[in-house]
Amino acid sequence: MKRLALALALVLVALPAEAAVILKGYVEQGSLVTGHTDPKSTVMLDGKPLMVSPKGLFAFAFGRDHGPRATLIVTMPDGTREVKALTVAPRKWVVQSLTGVDQKYVTPPPEVQERIKREKELKLAARVCTTNANWFAEDFIWPAKGPISSVFGSQRIFNGMKKNPHFGVDVAAPQGTQIVAPADGIIRLAQPDMFFEGGLVFIDHGQGVTTQYLHMSRVDVRVDQRVRQGDTIGAVGKTGRVTGAHLHWGMNWCGVQVDPSLRIAGIGPKGAESGMKVGGE
Ligand SMILES: [Zn+2]
Repeated sequence: MKRLALALALVLVALPAEAAVILKGYVEQGSLVTGHTDPKSTVMLDGKPLMVSPKGLFAFAFGRDHGPRATLIVTMPDGTREVKALTVAPRKWVVQSLTGVDQKYVTPPPEVQERIKREKELKLAARVCTTNANWFAEDFIWPAKGPISSVFGSQRIFNGMKKNPHFGVDVAAPQGTQIVAPADGIIRLAQPDMFFEGGLVFIDHGQGVTTQYLHMSRVDVRVDQRVRQGDTIGAVGKTGRVTGAHLHWGMNWCGVQVDPSLRIAGIGPKGAESGMKVGGE
């Protein structure tokens, strides 16, 4: 019996506790990918080190115009390395032409330039990239219910003028519809009246993953407030640069804009068929 127990113990020791690196998300343009490994590992994406939480969780993202290749290297505490050559699937972007946008938002007059500059700095400062938290690894839920009126990444043309791509997902919902936190986090920005964004909230989900909520009619949270998935943060509105009431929902990883809807359970990839799907549902 003792010998059997010893043999069993040896077998258990010989088996690896779990796979060395597990990734979750879609390896495609405009996508956040999260991963799990030994907490004492080091993780590098294209030569740059990533944060690894005490639970072994990490995050990285591919921007809208990311090229087809990326390399993830995980070095285990014992020095062994796992090299993953990732193929980043391309996405097709639609062109969206909007007319009837108030011209002051298309070519802002000189008297609002100072305000735009000040608000840009506020937003940059609120995009915290170092919070040691794991909330980004949860499955997200929709922050508001309604039809999608504009997808991530579209090329925008306002009143005939080419503007930045649409870095978010628009949910059409009536003014006053409640907006909830799609995952746990900490509020980093809560502004009732920004020039372009109107009522604006940023939620920090850890390791540089933040989500943004624009055009809100009401902001019900304050900076540094801890929120949980499903908590009300405010209401849908039509403040700032809009042509009607909707929620613009954005996601950002340390300055890289991504499609937040890809983190919702059950949402499929948007990239080409050839793209690599990792983990998830
Ligand atoms: Zn939008």
